[in-house]
Amino acid sequence: MLWLERKYLSQVVSLLDMGKWTNDNTLNHRCPYCGDSQKNKHKARGYHFAVKQSFVYKCHNCGKSTSSVRFLKDHFPVVYKEYIKEWLTESGKKPRTKPTRSANDFKFTPRKELLNTMKEIDLSAVCFPANEKHVAREFLQSRMIPDEQIKNLWYVTNAKSLTVYANKRGISETKIDKGASTHFDTRGVDDGHKETQHGIPVDDQRIVIPFIVNGELVGMTGRAMDDSFLRYLTLRFKDDVPLVFNYDKVDKTKTVLVTEGPLDSLFLPNSMAIAGSDYKKLDELDTKLKDNAILIFDNETRNKQILDKVSSAIDDGFTVCIWNDRRVANYKDINEMVLAGLSTDVIVDIITSNAYSGLSAKTKLSEYKKI
Ligand SMILES: [Zn+2]
Repeated sequence: MLWLERKYLSQVVSLLDMGKWTNDNTLNHRCPYCGDSQKNKHKARGYHFAVKQSFVYKCHNCGKSTSSVRFLKDHFPVVYKEYIKEWLTESGKKPRTKPTRSANDFKFTPRKELLNTMKEIDLSAVCFPANEKHVAREFLQSRMIPDEQIKNLWYVTNAKSLTVYANKRGISETKIDKGASTHFDTRGVDDGHKETQHGIPVDDQRIVIPFIVNGELVGMTGRAMDDSFLRYLTLRFKDDVPLVFNYDKVDKTKTVLVTEGPLDSLFLPNSMAIAGSDYKKLDELDTKLKDNAILIFDNETRNKQILDKVSSAIDDGFTVCIWNDRRVANYKDINEMVLAGLSTDVIVDIITSNAYSGLSAKTKLSEYKKI
């Protein structure tokens, strides 16, 4: 929501060193990440500018690149909280405070007639198509997810409606998959899907990402649109099938790019996501996949958990991407690289030229890691 971001950026202009709007869509100031030039106090190389429906921040001194919302979070946490509150209101999460919109616009009642006739992998009975709901489309577009990919995603105003789907399919107990990774933060989830104050927030809108494996919907994950909620809420419908995103659509005879996060995979050709860091699930699905897969873990040189995963993936014979490239040094995942302006071609080129296995992977990993 460009206007809303502009409003909150405007609130902090006077607090920023040399902060000024150079036009409606460009805010310039000294970069608080690097301090900008130490010698020349008049250099101001941090810029916020509009990209589609969002502002992004870029420093031409240190190269820091992030969303402007993230910038607010980093430097003005109180203003950021206010922003989030208003964003939630504006995006319909708290329709009561916005009387011009009817609360019914945001409530989702499972469509009984559809439930009775739905095909297994059709979620339209319980979700909205993400490209048909403004708030979902805007959220995804602000992360620069391509429009043709948005069409494959879904949106719910309340994560609980996902369990309706599971019940309809005769799955009495929908399991929350805790995963074991950094992506699948388990903050606030109780065992056994209890609905307590620590359980699923009652009014929790999410982007829904389906896991379809061999033609069957085996689970889905709901990505929170507000980081104050559990970031990924993953429901598993079958115990014995690994949750992998986009598995059915990739050509396994060609190089397959495998990311941790499903959203990251949307930027890459012939890619899938393991929805976490448990790469071993690839072997469970198809042992031959190892020959063509490049595992792409997040770019975190100091994250022991991820580095250990990379190391054991190498031990298990996988090819991994070791992000030894200055162009991506500041970005921890593919979405951040895209937001920073790197093209898919450049990212794919970096991945393929930094893909290693065996001993050379071990060597590259030790050059890469900073702990
Ligand atoms: Zn900087």
